[in-house]
Amino acid sequence: MPRWGMVIDLDRCTACRACVVGCMQENNVGFAGPEQAAMGRVIHWMEMLTVGEGEYPNLRTHTLPRPCLHCDHPPCIKVCPVNATNRNPDGIVAQIHARCIGCRYCTAACPYTVRYFNWYEPSWPGEMAHALNDEVSVRPKGVVEKCTFCHHRLVRAREQARMENRAMQPEEYQPACAEICPTRAIFFGDLDDPGSEVAVLSRSSRALKLLEDLGTEPKVIYLKEGE
Ligand code: SF4
Ligand code: SF4
Repeated sequence: MPRWGMVIDLDRCTACRACVVGCMQENNVGFAGPEQAAMGRVIHWMEMLTVGEGEYPNLRTHTLPRPCLHCDHPPCIKVCPVNATNRNPDGIVAQIHARCIGCRYCTAACPYTVRYFNWYEPSWPGEMAHALNDEVSVRPKGVVEKCTFCHHRLVRAREQARMENRAMQPEEYQPACAEICPTRAIFFGDLDDPGSEVAVLSRSSRALKLLEDLGTEPKVIYLKEGE
């Protein structure tokens, strides 16, 4: 069974935010509207973080696309009182929205702040309401949601291969963010296949795991800038 993971090359990322928008479109993420946005309630399964470095006037800004890191040892799962989140057989950290009671323990436990509570019923302005992805369920007010590595795409690719009576190839499964990135800053594949692009990149001297000391073992790995 592949160990699906992602490598994000920060040297290639131009912070264009195509991955942010592509993710919202693919996964039916609702629009917050100005009132909810003013209260910091915007949902972004893929978020562009901005990190400042140095002291005035010698300041530098770094940007960092940040999805759920699909940790191999995820603290978010341990705290859920109703088993509404789990590490599924594909190693992807999943959210079962129908079971979620909205207690937000998982949101507090995630050290990467990638989990979002639905403070409002999701809505989409104008024609966008007619362009929802029918492969992804819409989440109601009161539950927590987050990036799924576009797991529905894995299910689709697997079904296609099964119908054609052949084995699915890892390159047939790509999350929307990796597919849309115009500079190819996002790589995706099987971390356990030593020859795969992600596995090779994850062993690079530029490879960096966020908050590695916590032992969460994230499957999203960054390549540092400027080295
Ligand atoms: S789409 Fe690619 S280049 Fe654009 S912000 Fe996302 S990772 Fe960076
Ligand atoms: S990044 Fe956060 S939500 Fe995602 S698996 Fe790790 S602890 Fe859980």
